[in-house]
Amino acid sequence: MSKPESSADCIFCKIIAGEIPAEIVHSDESTLSFRDLNPQAPTHVLVIPRTHHENAAELGSRDPAGLAAVIAAGAAVAEQEGLSHGYRLVFNTGAGAGQTVFHAHLHVLGGRSLQWPPG
Ligand code: 5GP
Ligand code: ZN
Repeated sequence: MSKPESSADCIFCKIIAGEIPAEIVHSDESTLSFRDLNPQAPTHVLVIPRTHHENAAELGSRDPAGLAAVIAAGAAVAEQEGLSHGYRLVFNTGAGAGQTVFHAHLHVLGGRSLQWPPG
């Protein structure tokens, strides 16, 4: 059985529907990008697919072009935000890795030096 296009309880589906406000920085036919409410770097933007998938792996297996569109939007956001020095793209996947919203989302982080390995 295929997954629903959106989930009634999903906060990111509500942002796509315009039911919850967000500071949108980029938009195209398959993605929406907006500033994280609790930024972890001077630039911290979330890129989400317009359709509901629980995480990046599920998005990639069900809709490979959708995953590619999310990454392309992340690169466009990084350029728009002037992150020419470098930036980090992160998909937290699963609660044990810090995922708290179960609608696939790409974190675009930059504007400060980023340590490796991450915490
Ligand atoms: P995760 O921890 O699942 O990888 O990332 C979820 C991110 O969503 C967190 O960084 C959190 O600050 C952000 N977030 C949660 N709720 C909202 C919201 O309503 N609006 C915005 N802009 N960001 C949110
Ligand atoms: Zn959703």
